Amino acid sequence: GQNGAPDYLKGLNPEQRLAVETTEGPVLVLAGAGTGKTRVLTTRIAHILATGRAFPSQILAVTFTNKAAREMKQRIGHLIGEGNVEGMPWLGTFHSIGVKLLRRHAELAGLKSDFTILDTDDVVRLIKQLIQAEGLDDKRWPAKTFAQMLDNWKNKGLGPDEIPEGDARSFGNGKGRQLYKAYQERLQTLNSCDFGDLLYHPIRIFRAYPDVLKEYHRKFKYILVDEYQDTNTAQYMWLRLLAQRPHAGRSASSDSAEGRKPDRASEPLRGPRGGPAPAGAEQPVSVNICCVGDDDQSIYGWRGAEVDNILRFDKDFPGATIIRLERNYRSTAHILGAASHLIAHNEGRFGKTLFTDRDDPEDDKVHVHAAWDSEEEARAIGDAIEAYQRQKHNLNDMAILVRASFQMRAFEDRFITLGLNYRVIGGPRFYERLEIRDALAFFRVVANSGDDLAFERIVNTPKRGLGEATIRQIHDTARAMRVPMLEAAATLAESDELKPKPRAALREVAANFERWQKALETTPHTELAETILEESGYTDMWKNDRSADSPGRLENLKELIRSMEEYESLRSFLEHVALVMDAEQNAEQDAVSIMTLHSAKGLEFETVFLPGWEEGLFPHQRALDEGGRSGLEEERRLAYVGLTRAKKNLHIWFVSNRLIHGLWQSTIPSRFLDELPETHVDVADGGNSYGGYGNPYGGGAFASGRGGGRQNPYGASRFDNVGAKDQGSFSNTYATPGWQRAQANRTEATDRNWGTRSG
Ligand code: ATP
Ligand code: MG
Repeated sequence: GQNGAPDYLKGLNPEQRLAVETTEGPVLVLAGAGTGKTRVLTTRIAHILATGRAFPSQILAVTFTNKAAREMKQRIGHLIGEGNVEGMPWLGTFHSIGVKLLRRHAELAGLKSDFTILDTDDVVRLIKQLIQAEGLDDKRWPAKTFAQMLDNWKNKGLGPDEIPEGDARSFGNGKGRQLYKAYQERLQTLNSCDFGDLLYHPIRIFRAYPDVLKEYHRKFKYILVDEYQDTNTAQYMWLRLLAQRPHAGRSASSDSAEGRKPDRASEPLRGPRGGPAPAGAEQPVSVNICCVGDDDQSIYGWRGAEVDNILRFDKDFPGATIIRLERNYRSTAHILGAASHLIAHNEGRFGKTLFTDRDDPEDDKVHVHAAWDSEEEARAIGDAIEAYQRQKHNLNDMAILVRASFQMRAFEDRFITLGLNYRVIGGPRFYERLEIRDALAFFRVVANSGDDLAFERIVNTPKRGLGEATIRQIHDTARAMRVPMLEAAATLAESDELKPKPRAALREVAANFERWQKALETTPHTELAETILEESGYTDMWKNDRSADSPGRLENLKELIRSMEEYESLRSFLEHVALVMDAEQNAEQDAVSIMTLHSAKGLEFETVFLPGWEEGLFPHQRALDEGGRSGLEEERRLAYVGLTRAKKNLHIWFVSNRLIHGLWQSTIPSRFLDELPETHVDVADGGNSYGGYGNPYGGGAFASGRGGGRQNPYGASRFDNVGAKDQGSFSNTYATPGWQRAQANRTEATDRNWGTRSG
């Protein structure tokens, strides 16, 4: 407007406004969840555009997901008019912006602009060829392992000549470096790149061709980055190249000077980690870069993200304005209190204050519920969602955030039964996952040998050396004989039309299915399902797979088998699955969101359900095994992310029994539950207690009552007696043991058992 601030600035608090209006120079907004960081970024772009400081094409803005990028564009449109945001070509994720850059300069990376991006399978196949070409045994040196190594190197921006000597030696009898080189050359010939190259190539190009970099220095007047705490080293290098301009007279290519070591410390423009720049180095001039983030929400350390990047911002960008936002606009005081108390258990954090002006006595506390097992948990959450629906809440405003994707299965099944719309965000639905589809294909052929589609899917999975030619031959035989492919395969296996190797493979396939089909009459179907996956080599295939997602796939397979128990037979189970698969996912429809905690970052919902808060699941055993205290702290940050997604209603669940490593086990409530402050939490029993939704979850908490005595190696927990040992006595048990004492015992026990000693 004429007088005072334009509309889009109104309603911002003074610190937010400072972050928006400090358009020149480096700015870091370091603030807790829900304080308006993303809103600041959005408004800042609107401000830059509305005041004519830059054209849309001169703004580089990085979000964590493509969805977030779309939403940001929409919101900017709302703030300053749709017409003004058209053509923001550089608003996207690191990867989507990277592709665009690389297409423009493909030739500088030895590619053509129509290069293809290989998926993981392609990459692994390619590496396997290279390993064999080197005369190495690809069983001893698995391609997957090398693919993982490559990805790590590229995430650190390291080229073949820069990888640490130890790394280079550790693979393929010391041929690591050679393989890396051969791989990059091969990609060039194929006019292809992998995912890591989308950042790696631009970094290389910027370094080697100062003129190109200069072009972008002129182009990008403003750089903005959301979720800065989760940038990895390559992303950080890429940003710094674009955001720091050397003083006139200093050549941007001087960083290719000899003696450059492959670690970050020796990069140009910076001193040793966190230290001052080496003597003689010139201070860089920083462009107008604004990064926002929260060190407490750094949850991608396992994928190479470096939370240090955010804590070092003012060293990288001298003269940076650092802004703290402390007012949370998202959540109730109870939710915020619970989250803040939990995250305070982490050491080594920056530390922040968070407050809210919300003070509504009607606001519910954070609810903790117990259930017998995951079926019960899914039933209860389904009921709760329907109850909210009856109170006129939209399904769109509700989300279930799980720690591990296998947990989704129970909810998807339950919601199908209830006819409740849901959508899975950030990944396929449970039954659409690769490993689940494969497993189902085996079962379908066993249940119905005429299922050619299923047969074709798994005839060569795991790899049995059955090539396309053989499969075509099976096809032709099947058509000629008018029989299913399985039968044709069995016939071919006994003829001499095939070479010995595929013939032997087919014979085994045919014998396997014959055996399993016979067993169908005599063996319980869950047992049979497990046998099938083992005897076919399918489980082993994933066990031998070293990629980051194979443990999750094995978990999903176990969950699949577990879920079959609910059905009478293999056939009735497969029928159920067919119905589930058929359920439409309609983006327009009102629907509950189901996603992992990792993909919930940055989002918010009126009502949030957090199931599965048990030791071993959350915190996840893998994180504990691999990461020691830092693994545990990352899990706790993940819990903090989960809690802070909720605006009004927050329900946390744990079950007493879960299938772990294929065995039913009594579980121990998550230590994170004990880290929630009593004042903000209500502990209610889960099952059967939903009568009268006037106050659906209230009441009842801390009433007396005892469940069975679960063995808790960590000492007494106030959740020990929530939920009963056997289903019968489930309905009226509530928690209570002496709160403070339990807390103290717990801490002691925690130190003893988990090695979280201080120092
Ligand atoms: P996260 O760390 O989870 O990404 P964030 O800091 O990015 O959170 P936002 O998502 O930007 O926070 O904001 C949280 C909620 O608060 C949003 O609904 C946003 O619209 C609202 N909000 C932010 N600032 C204000 C304000 N000044 N007045 C009213 N509402 C606000
Ligand atoms: Mg945000």
